[in-house]
Amino acid sequence: MSKTKRVGKYELKETLGKGNFSKVKRSVNVETGEINAIKIVNISSVENNGLEKQVKREISVLKTIKHANIVQMIEVLKSPNHIYIVMELVLGGELFDKIVSAKKFDEKTARRYFQQLIDGIAYCHTNKIAHRDLKPENLLLDDKDNLKISDFGLSGIMQTNTIMLSTICGTPHYVAPEVLTGSYNGMIADIWSCGIILFVMISGCHPFDGDTVQELFKRIENLEFKYPPYVSKEVRALLDKIIVVDPLKRATLTEIMNDPWFKVDFKPLHRYE
Ligand code: ADP
Ligand code: MG
Repeated sequence: MSKTKRVGKYELKETLGKGNFSKVKRSVNVETGEINAIKIVNISSVENNGLEKQVKREISVLKTIKHANIVQMIEVLKSPNHIYIVMELVLGGELFDKIVSAKKFDEKTARRYFQQLIDGIAYCHTNKIAHRDLKPENLLLDDKDNLKISDFGLSGIMQTNTIMLSTICGTPHYVAPEVLTGSYNGMIADIWSCGIILFVMISGCHPFDGDTVQELFKRIENLEFKYPPYVSKEVRALLDKIIVVDPLKRATLTEIMNDPWFKVDFKPLHRYE
């Protein structure tokens, strides 16, 4: 019989997925029988300066974050070489894979996911937490096809800025232009990423692409993109307000929530004001 690996009261089971710096496994709480997911981050693979203090601060905030569209963090454990992030198990896979297999979503389907995304983001922004690494790979689906945002606040914990992360990971497609040029507000940059996610859901392709990272960045900064012909004028009107280079002119969450296309059948869980 193989030895089961234990981390505190959690028994580690099979691997559910792999990220760039981490592995996610199913786990069982031996005291309660509860099944969770545990993200295992190799500490040597992330920047380590002042990590300890930073982790403590961020974790205490993240534990208070409770929203149906955000993957719930349960607790964080540490060993000399690893951080273990115990979280709610989410079993419906990544939104990314769903877009790939559907090619693209019809606008009603995309709207429902987008509303859930914005609702979750609004809740976190109210609590002054930015995500900074929003992309379809970080959006999971539960068994009822509800969207769950994963990795909230983790880019802060990793002390690795988004641009570095996304360059390493090779997916800078969702990065806001001001992130490329220096100082920025993580919450306003999140809104840009939400707009790109909506574009991708509706068209099945990235608005900005390039053969090199430099080319991609140039196109983002110059807003070189086109809507596929089938995108409705209502969605274009919303995206035209979000995909705006100047962060101060970009739509706010309130403006997005008041958009006529967005508002249809919107049932917020969080009252944003
Ligand atoms: P990284 O941020 O390092 O890229 P992720 O957090 O995205 O890693 O996790 C990698 C993969 O693990 C995800 O794409 C997903 O398939 C799986 N995963 C992550 N969190 C959960 C969870 N809470 N429940 C189930 N599977 C998960
Ligand atoms: Mg991730």
